[in-house]
Amino acid sequence: MSRLDQVLDNQWLTNNGPMVQEFEREIAEKLGVKHCVAMCNGTIALEIAIRALQLEGEVIVPSWTFVATAHALYWQGITPVFADIDPATHNLDPASVRCMITPRTSGIIGVHLWGRAAPVRELQDIADEHRLKLMFDAAHAFGSTYRGETIGRFGACEVLSFHATKSFNTFEGGAVATNDDELADTMRLMRNFGFSGYDNVIHPGTNGKMVEVCAAMGLANLLSHESVVVANRENYEAYRQALANIPGVSLLPYDPTEQNSYHYVVIEIAPECPVSRDDIVAALHAENILARKYFWPGVHKMRPYRDLFPHAHLMLSQTEKVAESVIILPTGTTLPEYAVNTVADIIRICISSGVTAASSVS
Ligand SMILES: *Cc1c(COP(=O)(O)O)cnc(C)c1O
Repeated sequence: MSRLDQVLDNQWLTNNGPMVQEFEREIAEKLGVKHCVAMCNGTIALEIAIRALQLEGEVIVPSWTFVATAHALYWQGITPVFADIDPATHNLDPASVRCMITPRTSGIIGVHLWGRAAPVRELQDIADEHRLKLMFDAAHAFGSTYRGETIGRFGACEVLSFHATKSFNTFEGGAVATNDDELADTMRLMRNFGFSGYDNVIHPGTNGKMVEVCAAMGLANLLSHESVVVANRENYEAYRQALANIPGVSLLPYDPTEQNSYHYVVIEIAPECPVSRDDIVAALHAENILARKYFWPGVHKMRPYRDLFPHAHLMLSQTEKVAESVIILPTGTTLPEYAVNTVADIIRICISSGVTAASSVS
């Protein structure tokens, strides 16, 4: 890759080099925002955004997300308060968010789960009404849209992840997108120890910098991102057809009028299905197919949160149901053409053998 050679030729390896600056310009343009502040990963980007927004006390988040959303708060002495989700979209349920507001609440972090936009308008209304700050964890949502507008400009800021497992990657990396000049300036200081020029520290900070080689990877991958999305979308359609007539299995639909990377092929196993979700995952693993139960058992049941909030599940009935039913199927540009039908066949056989076993017992 010539961009990688270029980094080595430049002999400028990190500290806001030319690749990072070009990367930030390209991302900001793609997302249609004024500022993209590139970071070493999505988690540090979340932590820096949370601190720059001066969140404190309690912040409302979904439990149905990757653990980093909650950890980024807890790591800085802020209490994540878990709200429930809408089972049709897996995104925050605004009614549940309202229930979680207390005098200590300072903000809400919405997550655009599976690349589908959170209910941005409803969350913004709640935030305005209660004078809360609103930001988004957009780690799944690079290139996605909300009501036709590219994600990146909603709330006070939106945090992206460019981890290797995401639809678009810089090996490891992340960024905060915002239209707020002052917030962007603060985050730029924070990601570089508070340095403003040489020998001049004017702000508390940490080391959140993206390195040149990662920005070069990002610039190269930007060129192929659209073809990744096309391949994912074809895989998704193939799964939809292959799984259509398997009883107890449903594929989570996406809004066809919005952009989505289709990077997450999410199926749900109905509670009345004769074989459990875990049995199906085990059957797939036995055939060397790396299906995953993401986010299981829900962040509120992970440590330290399950010890801190042992009763959180009482308010999270939809989260608990979804966490018990979800399987994420493999996709991407390297998925062999036969794989979709193979996966569907294994699931079908697994379920029909479960039906047989159940009827022979009764
Ligand atoms: C991947 C991810 C993160 C963390 O990003 P990293 O770049 O891996 O640190 C945060 N939130 C969600 C929802 C994610 O999927």
